[in-house]
Amino acid sequence: QQYAGKAADNSPGNVKVVVRVRTLLPRELEKEAPCLVEMNPVTQSTILYAPATTDQNARRKLEKKIFTFDNSFWSVDPEDEHYADQDDVYNCLGEEFLDHNFEGYHTCIFAYGQTGSGKSYSMMGTADKPGLIPRTCEDLFQRIESNDCPNISYSVRVSYFEVYNEHVRDLLVPKKDTPYYLKIRESPTEGPYIKDLTEVPVKNLQEVLKYMRQGDTSRSVASTKMNDVSSRSHAVFTLVLKQIYHDMERDETTERLARIRLVDLAGSERAKSTEATGQRLREGSNINKSLTTLGRVIAALAESGNNSRRKDVVPYRDSVLTWLLKDSLGGNSKTAMIACISPTDYDETLSTLRYADQAK
Ligand code: ADP
Repeated sequence: QQYAGKAADNSPGNVKVVVRVRTLLPRELEKEAPCLVEMNPVTQSTILYAPATTDQNARRKLEKKIFTFDNSFWSVDPEDEHYADQDDVYNCLGEEFLDHNFEGYHTCIFAYGQTGSGKSYSMMGTADKPGLIPRTCEDLFQRIESNDCPNISYSVRVSYFEVYNEHVRDLLVPKKDTPYYLKIRESPTEGPYIKDLTEVPVKNLQEVLKYMRQGDTSRSVASTKMNDVSSRSHAVFTLVLKQIYHDMERDETTERLARIRLVDLAGSERAKSTEATGQRLREGSNINKSLTTLGRVIAALAESGNNSRRKDVVPYRDSVLTWLLKDSLGGNSKTAMIACISPTDYDETLSTLRYADQAK
């Protein structure tokens, strides 16, 4: 017998939206670029100030914008008492989402924002400051290893793919020079899936981290060869957690499956690039398609909660990314968006905050 977790509850708020403003980079410090963002740790609001301008009318129109999200992570100045480090983000979001997985929900956490806003830092992190993905892996295996219930056992599988230009590439299969794309199929019971995607069983943290790094390398190799593809592709890291219950008395087993999706999206700035032509234009419009569709899917989910009457209007099919993430967005699943922002770029930051705002 197999069932895909619990039935979703009817409470609103299956979409959690948080914002994180990154630290000032050396080039910004050098230019003495002003920090345009402020956060209120009590109300969790994010305030964006218009950059100084000599035109008073323009300035009055811009002034400041205030947004409120589930959390606002202030990661500008490590010396600041309110500074949110990788631990804080994990404790606030990752841990809760892993709880949901053990309860049997599918989850999806994705990072949205312009290139250089801290998406990879938040999701993957660095060797000494690991982000949500390695921390989730670590916590997952810690929980499994500390299980002392003799009639529960676990299995974990991992896959890692990227969506580039509406095509899917397996990041766990090193394909050197030629781009290699997988086909998408639909199963009547399981919904959309990627045919022949590598999904490997992993037994411990070391193993899963090895695959994570392998996928990352495969991503950056393609990136250098093809002119920074990584900022123009969506990377989807997936853990599949299977919990197996053995009912000793009845001699039966029951399985519960949860899919953990951790997504580093393409840079949002490309979405509205107007100067692009040819290949760039096609990429731009495909990125646009995925990101705008994702925005519409999230907004539809946030609006409808689990109201089944509204389900048919969620436009999953409009982009490859949302189609593939269908089971992890809405229905029996919990979704979170980390809106990553730069403290110095007014236009891009405003556009990210607006995108995040419509997902609430
Ligand atoms: P993106 O993935 O959105 O393109 P990155 O994650 O690569 O952006 O971040 C850009 C740069 O800023 C990187 O050098 C990264 O290490 C740094 N960075 C981002 N967020 C933080 C943070 N919260 N604290 C310290 N450095 C950060």
